Amino acid sequence: MSSAARTGITLSVVVPMFNEQDALAALVARLRPALDGIGEPYEVVAVDDGSTDKTPELLHDLRAGWPELRMVRLRRNCGHQAALTAGLELAVGAYVASIDADLQDPPEKVAEMLALARAERLDIVYGVREDRSTDSGFKRRTAGAYYWLIRRLVGRQVPAQAGDFRLLSREAVEALRELPEQHRVYRLLVPWLGFPSGEVRYVREERVAGRTKYPVGKMVRLALDSVTGFSAAPLRVATWLGVLSFLTCLLLVVFSLSVYLAGMTVPGWTSLFVGVLFIGAVQLVCVGLLGEYVARIYTAVQRRPAYFVAEDTGTDPTAQR
Ligand code: UDP
Ligand code: MG
Repeated sequence: MSSAARTGITLSVVVPMFNEQDALAALVARLRPALDGIGEPYEVVAVDDGSTDKTPELLHDLRAGWPELRMVRLRRNCGHQAALTAGLELAVGAYVASIDADLQDPPEKVAEMLALARAERLDIVYGVREDRSTDSGFKRRTAGAYYWLIRRLVGRQVPAQAGDFRLLSREAVEALRELPEQHRVYRLLVPWLGFPSGEVRYVREERVAGRTKYPVGKMVRLALDSVTGFSAAPLRVATWLGVLSFLTCLLLVVFSLSVYLAGMTVPGWTSLFVGVLFIGAVQLVCVGLLGEYVARIYTAVQRRPAYFVAEDTGTDPTAQR
């Protein structure tokens, strides 16, 4: 018997949070009525991703008045996708939704996702952002480039503008758990699974409080993990760059030989300098690309866990309605 059947919990809602003390009250004020309104047994799996502010203390206090709230505290900050992994693996519901803690994804839509999944027997319901006008111009442009790139690399089945707000069936969650890899980018892995899926459209709201936990460095990391996790194409780009520069060099050799044979002495400094720079640059780029993949192999071989659970309060079944 699956854990979902054992506990009778229909819906788990995973909320990764990193230093979200300022957003928590507003989150609870909207998430709780939205979930209570569905009228079925649920749990909220709040994954505290090693916050250094008051987030874990606040969660503990909130649990006193909200038995459906479960806190999973990670020992240190493991990153958004790792926190999602922890939540997905520990959630027991027949359906598992994931949502950001900053209310950029409307909690009221979870009910709609659940209804759609049941009505059309879908395993995956994506939240697709209809309007990102509240995101900064920089965020919108980088996101646009990101979705353009991954749709070319992974395929058309990746819905554009679908982030980590989605609902998964128990089967889809189990399929994800089977995957051995550590660097997970769920917005690519989930469509890759190939389950029947649907979409719920929503307007991306403004972050309710606090600041983004995705600085440019983490955005670049997510993009690199997305590409190297799904495609060896960049390695082939390196090969083609190598071939191209080799051909260019051949032409240059012919050119310099004929200049030499024609008896024209050239100063030659510029071409030499440019040539050395060019080859050096191409080689560095290729070595860097190789490095990205080697790093991936390295962490895969180490097989270290993506996250460490320091504490899991569980839900309180006696207090469930
Ligand atoms: N988050 C996390 N660990 C991290 C970074 C972010 O758990 O290392 C959580 C964060 O608390 C939020 C969600 O991931 O609930 C999305 O982050 P954020 O809203 O800062 O990203 P943005 O919406 O700016 O892309
Ligand atoms: Mg956000």
